[in-house]
Amino acid sequence: MSHSLIIASNNAHKVTEIQALIGDDFILKTLAEIGFDADIPETGTTLTENALIKARHIYAQFGQDCFADDSGLEIEALNMEPGVYSARYAGEPVNHQKNNEKVLQALDGKSNRKAYFRTVIALILAGKEYLFEGKIEGEIQTHLTGINGFGYDPIFKPTGYDKTFAEMDLLEKSTISHRGIAVEKLANFLKSI
Ligand code: IMP
Repeated sequence: MSHSLIIASNNAHKVTEIQALIGDDFILKTLAEIGFDADIPETGTTLTENALIKARHIYAQFGQDCFADDSGLEIEALNMEPGVYSARYAGEPVNHQKNNEKVLQALDGKSNRKAYFRTVIALILAGKEYLFEGKIEGEIQTHLTGINGFGYDPIFKPTGYDKTFAEMDLLEKSTISHRGIAVEKLANFLKSI
């Protein structure tokens, strides 16, 4: 029998991708499908805290199995910023172009351009909490390259590759990406229970 699992997201693309990975033992339900349209305040100071805040909020309100994810870009020379503040690094409203420009400016003249994309997924199953993490190392480039993806993809070149995330197609990116790795861990866990 298949169980339903709430995904604390309305991003159709994310949902399709994750559903394909976890198979049909768990059927994903989006926030829109359960009639939830409020904003969950992401007040945590770490990715883990924010993922837990979102999952706990949904679990408290609906009492159903659910998970939430939070991702960010961590840059060594910037004390791992923007991290949990990645989306709004250059202020509100979210503007990816301005965020990229701000990172390039902050790194101007710095030789250490090492960075990590990290995703944390918080799952609540029958009231029990589980965490899954995905991480990928790379280097921030000196200018934007590529048109695919979103966010910081045009300035992030994963270690061992000669192109940025924005020059990869979705399949190539999600095979190695922070989000792909975290979702794979979640999927393997769900298959194992
Ligand atoms: P979210 O938690 O998935 O919404 O990610 C928060 C922010 O981190 C996004 O708005 C982007 O700025 C950045 N980010 C997360 N994942 C990626 C990615 O795969 N590529 C580029 N930027 C990302």
